[in-house]
Amino acid sequence: MPPSEEHKQPFDPSATLRTGRLRTEPESEEQGSDSPTDVAPQTALVPSTQEDKVLEGKGMANEGLADIPSELAILPLRSVVVYPLTALPLTVGRPRSIRLIDDAVLGKRVIGLVAAKDQEQDDSGPDDVYQVGTAALVHRLRKAPDGTVILLVQGLERIKIREFTQTEPYLTARVEVAPDFVEDTVEVEALMRNIVELFRRLVALVPHIPDELIMLALHVDDPRQLAYAIATYMRMDLDDAQEILEIDEVTEKLRKLTIILNRELEVLELGKKIQAEAQTEMTKVQREYFLREQLKAIKKELGEEDEQTMEAEELRQKIEEAGMPEEAEKEARRELDRLSKLPTAAAEYSVIRTYLDWLVNLPWSKSTEDNLDIARARRVLDEDHYDLDDIKERIMEYLAVRKLRLERKNDEGEEEKEPVDYIRSEREGVILCFIGPPGTGKTSLGRSIARALGRKFVRQSLGGVRDEAEIRGHRRTYIGALPGRIIQALRRVESKNPIFMLDEIDKVGQDWRGDPSSALLEVLDPEQNRDFRDHYLDVPFDLSQVMFITTGNILDTIPPPLRDRMEILRLSGYTEEEKIKIAQQYLIPRQIRENSLRPEEIEFNKGAIRKVIRDYTREAGVRNLERELGSICRKVATKVAEGLSPEPVEGLSPEVPPDGSTGSPQRPDEGPVEGPRPEPAEGPVEGPRPEPAEGLRPEVASLTAEGQEGVKTLITEEKAAEFLGKPKYFFEAAERTEIPGVATAVAWTPTGGDILFIEATKMPGGKGFTLTGQLGDVMKESAQAALSYVRSKAEELGIDVDFFEKNDIHLHVPAGSIPKDGPSAGVTMATALASLLLDKPVRADVGMTGEITLRGQVLPVGGIKEKILAAHRVGLKTVILPQRNEPDLDDVPEEVKKEMTFILADKVDQVFTAALADRRESETS
Ligand code: ADP
Repeated sequence: MPPSEEHKQPFDPSATLRTGRLRTEPESEEQGSDSPTDVAPQTALVPSTQEDKVLEGKGMANEGLADIPSELAILPLRSVVVYPLTALPLTVGRPRSIRLIDDAVLGKRVIGLVAAKDQEQDDSGPDDVYQVGTAALVHRLRKAPDGTVILLVQGLERIKIREFTQTEPYLTARVEVAPDFVEDTVEVEALMRNIVELFRRLVALVPHIPDELIMLALHVDDPRQLAYAIATYMRMDLDDAQEILEIDEVTEKLRKLTIILNRELEVLELGKKIQAEAQTEMTKVQREYFLREQLKAIKKELGEEDEQTMEAEELRQKIEEAGMPEEAEKEARRELDRLSKLPTAAAEYSVIRTYLDWLVNLPWSKSTEDNLDIARARRVLDEDHYDLDDIKERIMEYLAVRKLRLERKNDEGEEEKEPVDYIRSEREGVILCFIGPPGTGKTSLGRSIARALGRKFVRQSLGGVRDEAEIRGHRRTYIGALPGRIIQALRRVESKNPIFMLDEIDKVGQDWRGDPSSALLEVLDPEQNRDFRDHYLDVPFDLSQVMFITTGNILDTIPPPLRDRMEILRLSGYTEEEKIKIAQQYLIPRQIRENSLRPEEIEFNKGAIRKVIRDYTREAGVRNLERELGSICRKVATKVAEGLSPEPVEGLSPEVPPDGSTGSPQRPDEGPVEGPRPEPAEGPVEGPRPEPAEGLRPEVASLTAEGQEGVKTLITEEKAAEFLGKPKYFFEAAERTEIPGVATAVAWTPTGGDILFIEATKMPGGKGFTLTGQLGDVMKESAQAALSYVRSKAEELGIDVDFFEKNDIHLHVPAGSIPKDGPSAGVTMATALASLLLDKPVRADVGMTGEITLRGQVLPVGGIKEKILAAHRVGLKTVILPQRNEPDLDDVPEEVKKEMTFILADKVDQVFTAALADRRESETS
């Protein structure tokens, strides 16, 4: 036990009380100590009284000195210093110490007490003890059952050891009494008062020191006694305690004590301050908690549940009703638990709130029942789409298999649980992938399937998705995190088994933010999507009931692993006849409906539809066609709404007022560019205005009852032109190929095929060959090959041999929406060059495609069907294609084949012959 600990003991109040009794019946007092030390101190303050003859008075404490023999038994003390004028209970355990006490009690009862230098040492010899100690009177009290002896010592006077006279059986020494020097000065008085004041503060800070001690201290007027009394009760190091004993001047002793007291006070006050601060912090939190609880109780009493509790309750209910799988429900409850413990103002609160909102609003168990009536499904598909027989057939197969599987499963009941195919677990869904140009009905087919099955339909475009997180969501730790597009769409559609259309799967990007296609794979793969884990939700969601349909324009850019998972169904562009049928049967009736017209109020004749197709749209699909037809319908609707039916009634010549179609501002000619353009109605488009009085022809006025509903407007070619303005497309080829050096290529594009004009020109110079038009490498090489071939055949073709020495040649492929790479423009480039060098224009109605070799062979190319449809669309009559592409002609619709001529070539010469035939000849033939 460290010495300082020992000094705590003096604060035991019972010790003080014992002191009082000690003086009357000292022998009866019992003292005990558990201290394992040889001599353990127990202290009591002994105020100076008249009864104690031993020590008295002020000045040199010489009285009673005669009672102290010059040779004393020396008892080494551990961890304690006994001062003169104080009494301390001690416990003595070691046999030699007991012997010493026994001998002392038999004699004069006076012994020398000295502190041992080393607290740890058991048997202190002469060298192990301090030389200054205290002579003390011993009262033996009693023997404890364990053999130790408890005694009370009363300090008499300071002694200095002169020499040890014996070490066995215990130490004895010759001593010299060394009384303290006491001065009676003002300084001593001041020091005393100061010490009493410091001690008072100290006692106030240490709760277990009884206040009586202050009273005692206040009443001591002997500075020496005060110094020793307070030193006995103070917590201090043994070294300090010994120093106080050793200092000769009492004034010095008081000074030293002042320093120690001050330091001790400082420590205690700082400790108290720390404690107080911690306490206030605690009580503040406790107070708030207490008040909040009270508020809750009051609100409850008033029947006003607080918002947070209500919200939590509401969420709890929603979680119960959501029908989540176990893991999700557990997570939801856990989060709800956290939520109810947070204050609403905490940032975390709204994060959890939003998360729970997502969880409870997902269609975990909401689904629609499939309508597997096959006949009805066929009817629905036919109702919505013209032709597309192959695709409809495939969809019917899909539905039929589904129906059978469900029926047979029900028949066989539950017993047959063993999977038949161990390699591949049962596939819920085939993933259909519709590939084709825009406007060919991919999306609307999806809607149709949903309608046929009675499922909900949801669409999500993947165009430009580069980040995996867009598919799979951001982790909740990100601020503003949300689930990915898949989960978002499912929440919107509120069903776990919708038809889910993923558009533009061919435009999924990939960069440093991660590969969305791998996330998509997980979504689409029936083996994996049973527990699709969105990063935000972080609990699995079963996507296996969702029927995914993907769409895209081209197949090549779809990542191969994704492509493998899907069943590809191709939709190619429509022919003019097909478009007319689609318009008649589907688009026009729909536009009439959507524009709130009645079928008897408008009619399109075939010529008008054809005109719209030829002059106002140039596309593989029918999207723009529908838009233009809609535009016409809107104009008629405006008339009807204004109560003025436009004039044409069947049989009447629909004379267009000249200022009506040409006088008003024209739409700028947009050229033969495909793609969406501003709705005609929104542009500065001319159109029939309400008949002005002066423009009204009498016969029309008589036939159209003004404002009367139900008067039919017949849309003829002229009327269509009047409504739609200047044609947007015309047969450009005639104009472009008028001069030698321009040839028409038919090209394949993601939007369904188009034509482009390849131009060659010459100028005086030396051997240069320039290629322009942002061409890809393959196309550049193709151009070089074309030139080399033409040069090598110059003589045969009848080209002046010097020509290449004297001229620069420039080959240009104009900008446009067509990707300019690939080998299939080879023959066209060669033809343009030949046309230029022979000074013979290319036939206007001829389009061509094919790769060439240096030796002049024509190699097969892809996309023949789309190319021919495009050629047909723009009005070309002849297409030159590689011989080896002949089988591809089987795919070309009959009506197109009927209207066109195909020249199959396997040598470039044949192409030249066909393309460079005399224009007039070809035009008449
Ligand atoms: P995509 O998704 O292929 O770009 P959409 O499905 O949006 O094309 O089709 C554009 C419009 O053309 C829709 O209104 C659709 O109903 C119509 N459509 C396309 N093909 C047909 C068809 N074969 N029969 C009837 N309408 C069609």
